[in-house]
Amino acid sequence: MSTSNIDMTTDRLTFARALYDAVPLYDPKRAPVDLDLTDNTNLWGLPPHAERALREIPVARITRYPSLYAAELKEALASFVGAKPEYLVTGCGSDDILDSAMRAFGDPGSVVASSEPSFAMIPIFAQMNGLTYVGVPERPDHQPDLDALLAAKPRILYLCTPNNPTGALLTQETLERAVREAPGVVFIDEAYAEFSGVSAVELAMRVDNLLVIRTMSKAFGLAGLRVGYGIGAPALVRDVEKSRGPYKVNAMAEQVALTALREDMAWVHAHVALAVENRERLAAALRDRGYAPLTSHANYVCVPVAQAIAVGQALRARGVAARPFAGLPHVGDTLRISVGPWEMLERFLVAFDDATANVYKGVTS
Ligand code: PMP
Repeated sequence: MSTSNIDMTTDRLTFARALYDAVPLYDPKRAPVDLDLTDNTNLWGLPPHAERALREIPVARITRYPSLYAAELKEALASFVGAKPEYLVTGCGSDDILDSAMRAFGDPGSVVASSEPSFAMIPIFAQMNGLTYVGVPERPDHQPDLDALLAAKPRILYLCTPNNPTGALLTQETLERAVREAPGVVFIDEAYAEFSGVSAVELAMRVDNLLVIRTMSKAFGLAGLRVGYGIGAPALVRDVEKSRGPYKVNAMAEQVALTALREDMAWVHAHVALAVENRERLAAALRDRGYAPLTSHANYVCVPVAQAIAVGQALRARGVAARPFAGLPHVGDTLRISVGPWEMLERFLVAFDDATANVYKGVTS
């Protein structure tokens, strides 16, 4: 190559969008580890009928394009959440719904406001779409500071319930006020709603400025297939669909997701119940050790732990990964531990005891 399009001073391509100078490539540093409790997926595995469907996909489904907007899947999801299909939009994971919806409703520079801490991708999706991100620290009770969020006059107000990473459930009152007073659209991210048993879907069917965002990556165990969906007024979800574009749910994902919704609901319910049981058991085990885990309504436990980054590293050295957070508002350093089968959590606890003992006596591995 004789010529270069790289600008020597910025180390960026001369034709790159300036907007992307500041956009990081998302990397949660998920290096392979024996026991990974960092991503809140279903650690029990794949539901059995979904697995059978995956193994039996007819080749013809792969050689042709999938359906444009996953109409059949929308119908099955609609009956799962208790909405009509015209209230549904699907996507390549709920990441895709969040990204497409920001593109659909944000003009360049529009404000996206989010309570903090919350889902780490929100500021990145905002940046990727040329929007202005405003983060507002949550209140000490782990509810969003709605006054401050509304004062930012957001085109898009993002709320997450149960919230990632705290596990806090937002009150119905908070959600209703957000929808009533927001000057633009409200996104309620319910990636973990199955574990709380509470949902704003019913609210989304009564108003025209609310998009509820859900996923099959967590309770349904299908993270690798990337199936997400949104629920909102027909006019609202149609614009998300325009922004999303066709063919985003691949043929294999649609088939397996449909099978899970039609044949695996007993498995899903049973494993949600197990996750809730083990979450409480893990929280109790941490309390026995003198920690004060936050009340969680999701499939993870967030526990304040001094020097969480060092403890996370020491855990990794012992073959176990949990997600550390530094300096969260009101609670300081925390570890977020995904909940799975009890044997996994027992192994976590053994590693945690050893890791904390070492870190707190000044040895970091
Ligand atoms: N929202 C929240 C709150 C999440 O925690 C996650 C996954 N970590 C997502 C959305 C995205 O999930 P997916 O794209 O797999 O549906």
